Amino acid sequence: MPLNLTGSCFCRNLTYTIHLSSLDDARTSLCHCGNCKKAFGGAFGVTSKIPVGSFSYDQGNQVHAGDNGSGSIVYREFCGKCGSYICEYGEQAKNSFRYITLGSLDDPSALPPKGEFFCSQREKWMPEVPGCFQKQKIKE
Ligand SMILES: [Zn+2]
Ligand SMILES: [Zn+2]
Repeated sequence: MPLNLTGSCFCRNLTYTIHLSSLDDARTSLCHCGNCKKAFGGAFGVTSKIPVGSFSYDQGNQVHAGDNGSGSIVYREFCGKCGSYICEYGEQAKNSFRYITLGSLDDPSALPPKGEFFCSQREKWMPEVPGCFQKQKIKE
């Protein structure tokens, strides 16, 4: 069943639309790695992986490219006004996927998580998410 989702940054200067042909096209996951903690300013990162063609900005965005510490470039896109973090993608995924920050969706509960990555760096007080697969390291 086709699924249309909308999202925005905090100040709503930036809005986007996602058109999925089915719920199976999205994979939401938590990541406990150090880069995600920094980028999200939280105890973990949570993004939804979607095909690049399903995602489009209606207005606004700003791109930051940085070395993620392992030598590979990771692009992160933000609202140019309020700085809300909207999505990320590595050099390799650039033409195929976007990882949308779950909290930027207008309805984050539309895409519940399927897995957890870098569980080796999970904060001690953070329990495993029931019903998810758990991987110790690898993001992909
Ligand atoms: Zn904004
Ligand atoms: Zn991560």
